[in-house]
Amino acid sequence: MSVATGTAVEQLEVFAKTIPTDAPESDGTLEWDSTTIVVVQVHAGGLSGLGYTYTHDAAARLIEDKLAPAVRGVMVERDLSPAWHEMGDLLRNVGRPGMGFMALSAVDIALWDLKARVLGVPLVDLLGGVRDEAAIYGSGGFTSYSLERLAEQLAGWVAQGIPRVKIKVGRSPDDDPARLDAARVAIGDETALFVDANGAFDREDAVAWAERYAREWGVTWFEEPVSSADLAGLRYVRRRAPLDVAAGEYAYVPADFRNLLDAGAVDCLQVDVTRCGGYTGFLHAAALAEQHGLEISAHCAPQVSAHVCCAVPHFRHIEYFHDHVRIERMLFGGALEPDGGALRPDRSRPGHGLVLR
Ligand SMILES: [Mg+2]
Repeated sequence: MSVATGTAVEQLEVFAKTIPTDAPESDGTLEWDSTTIVVVQVHAGGLSGLGYTYTHDAAARLIEDKLAPAVRGVMVERDLSPAWHEMGDLLRNVGRPGMGFMALSAVDIALWDLKARVLGVPLVDLLGGVRDEAAIYGSGGFTSYSLERLAEQLAGWVAQGIPRVKIKVGRSPDDDPARLDAARVAIGDETALFVDANGAFDREDAVAWAERYAREWGVTWFEEPVSSADLAGLRYVRRRAPLDVAAGEYAYVPADFRNLLDAGAVDCLQVDVTRCGGYTGFLHAAALAEQHGLEISAHCAPQVSAHVCCAVPHFRHIEYFHDHVRIERMLFGGALEPDGGALRPDRSRPGHGLVLR
């Protein structure tokens, strides 16, 4: 089939799967014992593209009802932007920010993967790779963990050569000094230590804790010190805290990123490829951050993040999140393994290289 006629998407399949965690998990503001992944496959010319997002299984029905009709017939060799905008238009009255954009993200990732496979190129090169590998940080350290389990998990990442780790804080703040002590002992002085409060603190408490985190444990990254809906609060903490303030995991549509950036709310913008509109939305958000002179950090879903993060010049790291690492290994063949604290896309494979087991 020539490029002039093109390869049209014939079919879209979607399923949801709920996978129990390996132990009860909690952070500053939520407890959970399972994770649901919604997986999309798009088919054209005998090839398949794969995308996914982590959300409620209701997103599977949303994809089937609202997005699949817009995707059938898309010519994959051509620009995918029209399909992205059409899907956004179709979600208008259902709600774009939130689950609507998570659904759209899974489809967009699958379309980019399919396009790369049809063209026979690795996704990283199709997206415009500027580096060969993307740095990661180990993320877990749940507030539900015993000190022993916490230390074991963090030391495990350091043993794999990952020089950055993050733990959850803020559920019972009085317990955190012992948890931070255990973390620092487990990882040694050379490993960067990050914390994530998932919006658990008010402004004044967040500033007070930021000072302690930095002074007593050498913490350099404080994620969602206050609710990320409180843009003025994030800016308040950022201006006073002696470490980097980060947020962005609940930014979906481009306006969400613009609002965070215009408010001066973050030192580093977090972007989740499975929430922000897939690869198309990720590149939009990264461009906005660059205009504000900021780096981006990819939130979770490391196996689909690695490729686009190699295409963003002002990139810092990917969150190598315990739950997603486990699920992506379980469900997909071709998952990348960390090497020297980074994920390196395999350029010998077209697309992102993941296949459904
Ligand atoms: Mg977070």
